Amino acid sequence: MRIILLGPPGCGKGTQGDLIQGKYGFPRISSGDLLRDSVQRGTPLGLQAEAFMNQGELVSDDVVVGMIQERIGREDCQGGFILDGFPRTVHQAERLLEIDHGRDEIVLDIRVDDQAIIERLSARRICSGCGSIHTLREAAAKEPGACHACGGSLIQRDDDKSEVIQRRLKVYRTQTTPLEKYYREKNVYHAVEGQGRIEEIFARIEAVLERSVPGLALKAEASAKR
Ligand code: AMP
Repeated sequence: MRIILLGPPGCGKGTQGDLIQGKYGFPRISSGDLLRDSVQRGTPLGLQAEAFMNQGELVSDDVVVGMIQERIGREDCQGGFILDGFPRTVHQAERLLEIDHGRDEIVLDIRVDDQAIIERLSARRICSGCGSIHTLREAAAKEPGACHACGGSLIQRDDDKSEVIQRRLKVYRTQTTPLEKYYREKNVYHAVEGQGRIEEIFARIEAVLERSVPGLALKAEASAKR
């Protein structure tokens, strides 16, 4: 099973992907996290990607596809995985079929309007220690600027600054939304209302997944027993 999470930056793909991973046991693979990790480690791939990321532009398909291919080739992905942030273009979706053919897939498009996205991303802070996601309000209410999970400092992603947010949204609307038509034609596309509380959105996702993927509810029970 390949679960693909679509939706604009800040729509909650990471949060919902973690909940799906927790319930059904599939690893969540975020292309953005893999790229940020390469940037932080200063690898050649990271150096190549950094300028594009800071400007809110897409990194080249070859770089991203190669990175995803390496990650999904690992043992923990054999039984299925969740993709968060990949594919981002129809061309990447076609490349995905070449590198991981013959697997069932389901696409969940988390829909949130642009105004809500701008508000969410401007208030988003990331822990520099464990990578967890926080809101500005929550960060201010606790130890100023500290992560409640690991005590690390909370920082704003360079690409969550307002000029870059506008650019990322524009890139999403022009380059990624054509995937809706692409996946609708394959009959694997499901839109999920992304406004509301985290648990409400997750309940919508669970309903779609368990209705569409035979045996998934049983997998959740097995995963809970482990
Ligand atoms: P994200 O964390 O998914 O919002 O991604 C952050 C940034 O990483 C994006 O704005 C892009 O610059 C880059 N990126 C992530 N995934 C991809 C992808 N599939 N294709 C190209 N660039 C990507």
